[in-house]
Amino acid sequence: MSGVISRLSAMLKGGKISVKELIEAYISRIEAVNPLLNAYVYTTFEEALSKVDSMQKRIAEGASPLAGIPFALKDNICTAGIPTTCCSKILENFRPCYDATVWSKLKAQGAVLLGKTNMDEFAMGSTSESSFYGAPKNPVNTACVTGGSSGGSAAAVKAELAAFALGSDTGGSIRQPASFCGVVGFKPTYGAVSRYGLIAYASSLDQIGPFAQTVEDAAIVYDAIRGKDEHDMTSACGKAGATDLSCDVKNITVGVPEEFFSDGVDEEVKSAIEAAICLFERGGATIRRVHFPDLKTALSAYYVISCAEASSNLGRYDGIRYGYRAESYADIDEMIVKTRSTGFGAEVKRRIMLGTYVLSSGYYDAYYKKACLIRSRIRAAFRELFSGCDILITPASPTTAFHLGKTYSDSTQAYLADICTVPVNIAGLPAVSLPCGVSKDGLPIGMQIIADRMCDSTALACAHYFEREAAVSVPLSSEVAL
Ligand code: GLN
Repeated sequence: MSGVISRLSAMLKGGKISVKELIEAYISRIEAVNPLLNAYVYTTFEEALSKVDSMQKRIAEGASPLAGIPFALKDNICTAGIPTTCCSKILENFRPCYDATVWSKLKAQGAVLLGKTNMDEFAMGSTSESSFYGAPKNPVNTACVTGGSSGGSAAAVKAELAAFALGSDTGGSIRQPASFCGVVGFKPTYGAVSRYGLIAYASSLDQIGPFAQTVEDAAIVYDAIRGKDEHDMTSACGKAGATDLSCDVKNITVGVPEEFFSDGVDEEVKSAIEAAICLFERGGATIRRVHFPDLKTALSAYYVISCAEASSNLGRYDGIRYGYRAESYADIDEMIVKTRSTGFGAEVKRRIMLGTYVLSSGYYDAYYKKACLIRSRIRAAFRELFSGCDILITPASPTTAFHLGKTYSDSTQAYLADICTVPVNIAGLPAVSLPCGVSKDGLPIGMQIIADRMCDSTALACAHYFEREAAVSVPLSSEVAL
């Protein structure tokens, strides 16, 4: 499937459409559809329109494939002078004084920002329902959630309210909403993309990545944002040159870890993934049934580590430095307590408390230290698997999109649904999620392709092969169809 970005870029370069016409077309689509979907929480139409003339000139000069292409950013990516709220009351009205590296890079390549997208508060969640601005709706079925936490970005791309979008993935927040909305979501190797300017949730797991309609688009965006950044000491160089999407499937060994297909996984999801594996086999790939016994432990370790890091990262919101401050208080201590207790939502407070508990003296060894040991074991298990396989194929999520309101009331249920995605973050690996089928209710089913560290192009190339061979299409709900 040729990508939206290359198609639009060719139209712009060939003079079939002007940047102004393109941006105006996206703006009117957002105005028509966003009131229903709530994918954007803030739009930057004025700034976008003020750029069109200079972009038009750059296109004439033969600029990057992203010149003039409209896109969206998750609302936890800092944009100087433009609200960046993490969809939390505590950052209401916060306008950062600097740009995230990914936003600077996209700006430098001429991409045009249309706005900031909805998300779970501080990226904590799997449905985007904990947003201070209310939940976004799934463009495939508006009675369903978009997934989370980057639900607004997934919905915006699926509903064609942006040609592409960026999200962040700490435990699955790009791959799971991509799976729920029927788009491509890519979580790069930890460090491949700078985190500078990404508001931290759990710094050792957080990673920025693209949402797109096709794998080719995701690769173009990935190439535009990746690379070493002096502002982020954990960032790495990666391979030079554009990501190579050519894939000789005959030389590929696909590992299928059986534990990812256990009881909690829907039958429809299992059979769609098995059909996808058969497609690789028919193409000449070697299929190996393998094991990942630590899958359940990975989930527990993730919730210990991510909450521990969150409790530390979110200590900075005290009513003094950023955004919201409680209105009445007797002294500074009361101000901080009131600001934090009324500024954060229930899920964020739950995680701060959990994180503080697992780091407290007396419990540190029993929980946090143990989780770190499990982390080393999980890394070793993946190393072992990748000594005999090029990629691993698993479901991106055990189920299709939940109905709105169904899981939000039950945190444990929501945590369990992250089981397929969190091991990848714990080991810092690259993984792509892409549609591989549609359920009998018409909801998209997502497949996850995991590759070894710094083998991002292997994951993308295999996904590209599958996308071309399978040609899965996931129709939009009639309410939002073009
Ligand atoms: N659903 C996971 C969580 O709630 C993942 C979140 C994320 O990747 N930001 O923590």
